[in-house]
Amino acid sequence: MPERLFVCTPSKLAAYEDCPRRYRYSYIDRPAPAKGPAWAHNSLGASVHTALRSWYALPPGKRRPEGLASLLRATWVSEGYRDTDQERAAFARALAWLERYVDGLDPLDEPVGVERVVATKTATLALSGRVDRIDRRGDELVIVDYKTGRAGLSEDDARGSRALALYAYAAERVFRRRCRRVELHHLPTETVSGHDHTEESLARHLRRAEEAARDILAAERAVADGGDPDQAFPTQPGSLCSWCDYRRTCPAGEQAPTREPWAGVARDE
Ligand code: SF4
Repeated sequence: MPERLFVCTPSKLAAYEDCPRRYRYSYIDRPAPAKGPAWAHNSLGASVHTALRSWYALPPGKRRPEGLASLLRATWVSEGYRDTDQERAAFARALAWLERYVDGLDPLDEPVGVERVVATKTATLALSGRVDRIDRRGDELVIVDYKTGRAGLSEDDARGSRALALYAYAAERVFRRRCRRVELHHLPTETVSGHDHTEESLARHLRRAEEAARDILAAERAVADGGDPDQAFPTQPGSLCSWCDYRRTCPAGEQAPTREPWAGVARDE
């Protein structure tokens, strides 16, 4: 019998590569352990992403900077902020980022896809993922990923991003058009960090994704055969623990310094 394909998204694979225990809590344990409270920085990121999706949903003639405040307000996510003042300041910051960002866009440009799901299969993976934006430049496609975090990003981040590489691999197959360029658009610093993949570098990312899938399946098999789930999916303590949704459930997470849900945006105040 051929092995069944491992159904995954880049974020599912990343969850395992970051920490096998976190993967188990998110994707295997049922009922899933309770998550901690929502993070304000996630709310902020989601709000900005949705506003940009709404911007592209408008007819080109209506894509004007003065409409951004109502687009942002319409789908603003309020969860996780310390208080109204902090939330208001975050809204103003997000609006300023968006205004500067769309100032550099041609409203007449129609992307190939906005929050577009791309999916493909390999020998071992049934891979899918939602891409923030897919542009067409000349004869090629470009994967665009919006970022709103505090830290600036480098070309190494674009080159090393497994998610971006897998999106490029899938988009090339879905649209039957070459897709090698991946870009991180960091709105707070108005910078674009890009990388031009080669066939070999995409194959390398794909190989690592397939290795992670094989490791996950092996761990799942070990548990199904009566193994200890804690050993099959070990903790991987590190700086991510303080920001992990399962910090309160995980024995390693309990040791990590506590962060308030708004800590990620408080650093920008
Ligand atoms: S708290 Fe740390 S070790 Fe525990 S699941 Fe989360 S990331 Fe993994």
